[in-house]
Amino acid sequence: MIVMKFGGTSVEDSAAIERAADIVFARLEQRPVVVVSAMAGVTDSLLAMSQAAASGSLPQAMELLRRVRQRHLEVLSALIRGADEASVRERIHALAAALQDVLRGVATLGELSPRTTDTILSTGELLSSGIVSAAFQSRGIPSVLVDSRHCIVTDATHTRAVPLFDETSNRLRCDVETLLQANQVPVMGGFIAATAEGVVTTLGRGGSDFSAAIIGAALNAKRIEIWTDVEGMMTTDPRLCPQARRIEMIGFDEASELAYFGAKVLHPATLIPAVEKNIPVHVLNSRKPKSKGTCIRSGAPRSRTVFRAIAAKKGMQVINVKSPRMLMAQGFLRALFDVFAQHDCAADLVSTSEVSVSVALDSSRNGGALLHDLKRLGEVEVEAGKAIICLVGKHIRGRVGVAAKVFQTIADGGINVHMISQGASEINISFVVEESDVLEAVQRLHRCFFEAECVGEPREAGAGLQVPSLASHLGARPEVG
Ligand code: ADP
Ligand code: ASP
Ligand code: MG
Repeated sequence: MIVMKFGGTSVEDSAAIERAADIVFARLEQRPVVVVSAMAGVTDSLLAMSQAAASGSLPQAMELLRRVRQRHLEVLSALIRGADEASVRERIHALAAALQDVLRGVATLGELSPRTTDTILSTGELLSSGIVSAAFQSRGIPSVLVDSRHCIVTDATHTRAVPLFDETSNRLRCDVETLLQANQVPVMGGFIAATAEGVVTTLGRGGSDFSAAIIGAALNAKRIEIWTDVEGMMTTDPRLCPQARRIEMIGFDEASELAYFGAKVLHPATLIPAVEKNIPVHVLNSRKPKSKGTCIRSGAPRSRTVFRAIAAKKGMQVINVKSPRMLMAQGFLRALFDVFAQHDCAADLVSTSEVSVSVALDSSRNGGALLHDLKRLGEVEVEAGKAIICLVGKHIRGRVGVAAKVFQTIADGGINVHMISQGASEINISFVVEESDVLEAVQRLHRCFFEAECVGEPREAGAGLQVPSLASHLGARPEVG
């Protein structure tokens, strides 16, 4: 069997859903399970209406809800007619009515919990999967709508729940494998799941990719296909740099680093189940179904360029903790990271000196409680509006001059670097810049490492001059990472 996941733009309107149907139809013999996202922009609208309701603007929330319902009804009637249309229409009205009740409750209480947020956001995938399944049926695909809330079991970490693989595998084998054996095509909403007790959860923004990989691993898929709006995984985000090129093949390790450091084309956790079962993941363009896309797999050949790709992650902050007590103090770092762990905050980059530690992490994870606890360890300073830029490639292992070239390119653009880390995996170089410098930095780096003649390979370590220390570029602390 194979898993085929269609992202938001690949089911955004009736034309997109028709294209998806053609793509699935052509692969019926491979026994596909289809996973769909909410239509493009719908999850954002659901989030906006939940926030409007919580802040007392119920009429605004209702207007957003009306538009979402109307959009789905229009797409439905462009795709299907007759009795089949009537039953899906009813489903759309029922989901919209349930959502309206929840939004009223949120407005009355003036409170929006992560649990309620998940219930609201799940509506997007429930709506799209119902329409897609019915549209497939009307085009001769023997599809069956499967409720992901019954099959994907997670813990109760609302808005970024963690799947419980054993229970999920059991349920998928029971509910979905049986359909495949009967030559049917299960259609499921991505992103959404539930706890063992049946409370709705979601897997984090962009989580439909992760759903596809969980299903693929549980059912031992031959291949997981991620159908999206770009040619495949590219040398950088084509929205930042139109010169970005498709990567033909890339290893799990490199693709994971890129996804983690901001390549939105894949949810960062997508490759974990795929790696475990060694299932290749193909990223494909639903607007050009014949083009080859990118194959992510183990043992991919090395790239001809120094780096495989560049990723950028905005919305970061740097927290600096300064403490003279840190000098020679054993256990300081442990105490510091205990605080981050207690607040469930994962550090993306870390650098230390004798008296200070800098940690880069997602801005949304900056609770007052975290800062309060950090202040017990020393003086705390928060720098907001930062971004991480990450260059990934296996060639940098043991090579001389790569980092020098990266930071010279950045310096030539007059861009200031706040933190540097050469990843512990030795396949990435990451650093922090101002968010406003991301475009310039990525374009310069792409030009240097993927477009200009300087894409040639750097020397092996020991074959000449050594790379200047990264710290000398910062005039600051040595890095760990
Ligand atoms: P979907 O709705 O199909 O899940 P997403 O918007 O989540 O699509 O992801 C696709 C987008 O990811 C692309 O439109 C592109 O702008 C962005 N992207 C970021 N980095 C990369 C990259 N390295 N390669 C391809 N796309 C990337
Ligand atoms: N609809 C969800 C989101 O927009 C999940 C996804 O698209 O993968 O985040
Ligand atoms: Mg996505």
